[in-house]
Amino acid sequence: MKKRILLLAGGQSGEHEVSLMSARSVLAALPRDQFDVTPVAISKQGRWLPPTDTRQALENGSAESGGDLVLHRVASAEGYDAVFPLLHGPMGEDGTVQGLLTLAGIPFVGSGVLGSAVSMDKVMTKQVLASAGIPQVDWRLAVRREWNNDADGVRARAAELGFPLFVKPANLGSSVGISKVRGPHELDAALDLAFSLDRRVILEAMTAGRPRELEVGVLGNDAPMASPVGELRFSSEFYDYETKYTEGRAEVHIPAPIPEDVARRVRELALVAFRALDCAGLARVDFFYLEDSGELVLNEVNTMPGFTQTSMYPKLFEAAGVGYSELVTRLVELALEER
Ligand code: ADP
Ligand code: MG
Ligand code: MG
Repeated sequence: MKKRILLLAGGQSGEHEVSLMSARSVLAALPRDQFDVTPVAISKQGRWLPPTDTRQALENGSAESGGDLVLHRVASAEGYDAVFPLLHGPMGEDGTVQGLLTLAGIPFVGSGVLGSAVSMDKVMTKQVLASAGIPQVDWRLAVRREWNNDADGVRARAAELGFPLFVKPANLGSSVGISKVRGPHELDAALDLAFSLDRRVILEAMTAGRPRELEVGVLGNDAPMASPVGELRFSSEFYDYETKYTEGRAEVHIPAPIPEDVARRVRELALVAFRALDCAGLARVDFFYLEDSGELVLNEVNTMPGFTQTSMYPKLFEAAGVGYSELVTRLVELALEER
């Protein structure tokens, strides 16, 4: 019997369009002889669209309006064998949808409530990974109320890290709301921007020197495997939204031209992080590597990484001999696996 799969895409975060692009690729790749796939687009307002509107949204690459309340739609989702929540960012990758599916009793691809929520929040991730002994940059947390009531206190906390530093909304992706702050004169604008997007903001020290950016894929549940290591190269100041999504701005190198022992360490640390955060199914774990000193720090863990045919995660597994169709099939199998 064919497995019935509900593919969720779009959603309320700044990564709505990216998600719909990924969903088109996954929809085309899930083998038809094994799976009966129903895509459901979630509008920017969080409403779940009926089939015809979903088809339209996938074609347009965006779902602006229409649709039903989530609760109504999830009830009609009963009868699916599994859900593939191909959603990025808040209200999708952060444990909210995972909680809904858990309550509805439907297996789903990827991390559960705990792994999703902790990995989405950059501060929470850093705290958990620190206790697992994983090297990271120095950082501070600030919440919106502090910025509103005691801005000098927040500025002093930033100064402890030195400049340049990075200011980021704690729960977001695709570099949305992230600023590289070169000196105190740029700090307030960066904090205003980040706090306009999140109640929690992380201040991060920069590595000493410009780091190389390495990424590795993890696949599996309680016995996960790591892919080869990939590297991203670009000429912009940092890996910002434009660099990520403008064709030709970044080069991908797989395998990354790095010493064998560095690659081994990246893969080991990724697996330690995956387990420490209670991830499941898949994750892309990103690192900064300083060639001169040999220093390696973990930057972040993405529990639902970009998933088009040309995205880093599928490319990494392709290099390991797992093609795109095989990869998405494997992810559904992992969702259905007894744990
Ligand atoms: P997102 O989840 O939006 O991808 P990241 O934390 O990965 O956010 O930051 C996006 C990019 O910003 C990174 O890929 C890197 O280019 C740059 N960056 C972020 N933090 C640092 C840091 N502490 N030091 C150096 N570069 C950084
Ligand atoms: Mg991210
Ligand atoms: Mg990132």
